[in-house]
Amino acid sequence: MADGKARRMWALPNAELTVPQALLMHGGAPDLVTIPCPAYLIEHEKGLVLFDTGCHPAVADDPVAHWGPFAEHLQVSYPKEMLLDRQIQALGYKMSDIKYVLISHLHLDHTGYMHAFPNATFIIMQDELRYAYWPEPHLRDVFVFKDIVPTRGFQWLELNGDFDIFGDGSLHMLKTPGHTPGESSLHVRLPNRSILLVGDTLHLREQFNTLSGMPLDTDPAASSLSIQRLRAIRDLHECTVWISHDPEDWDELPHAPTAIE
Ligand SMILES: [Zn+2]
Repeated sequence: MADGKARRMWALPNAELTVPQALLMHGGAPDLVTIPCPAYLIEHEKGLVLFDTGCHPAVADDPVAHWGPFAEHLQVSYPKEMLLDRQIQALGYKMSDIKYVLISHLHLDHTGYMHAFPNATFIIMQDELRYAYWPEPHLRDVFVFKDIVPTRGFQWLELNGDFDIFGDGSLHMLKTPGHTPGESSLHVRLPNRSILLVGDTLHLREQFNTLSGMPLDTDPAASSLSIQRLRAIRDLHECTVWISHDPEDWDELPHAPTAIE
């Protein structure tokens, strides 16, 4: 296998949502849990790459006004210093420095800043964009049209399966469907460690034991297979699986401004 490496990665904190654990996984408790909604900035010799884009800045002022009725069930904490543009600028970069934006899926806590990268190349799995435009009625509220429509004229690269972004093995986008039709994960190989970012393929570590997804998944059977795939990668490859929304996982690795190498 190609043995290229990305130079470094920053985990960018963004909004935090407080929701019942039962919303995050089948079999979860009614107890509330506060989860991070991070994005990840990756420096590669071919340019800066962003994985996911956090929540829209308007959510910091009024979540229900921007997100609609779904936000009525959430407690949102989104201090202004957590806005994605401020996080990126604090690292010394301009938004226009980002050349590639990789999207795990199009739920509202991942699409908030897509509008801010009109000159970037967006990469996503096939089926995700079309599904987000017309989801099944009971899942409509987790896709926010206002986040997606402004990107319609952007340059989108739609993948029909796993893709080695730069052909050097450093960034490998993996198709892990089920949470949504085009859900994907990203395997990041850095100089000293290898990290698998899982998108929302699973939300909490316990799902590696239950192998079941969450109530908003579009395809529970596919979701379970994708969790099995990630578990196999965790067990058979030398890498750290980092579950973005799991509060304990989030605390285990450094966040920006500290880079992970
Ligand atoms: Zn999601």
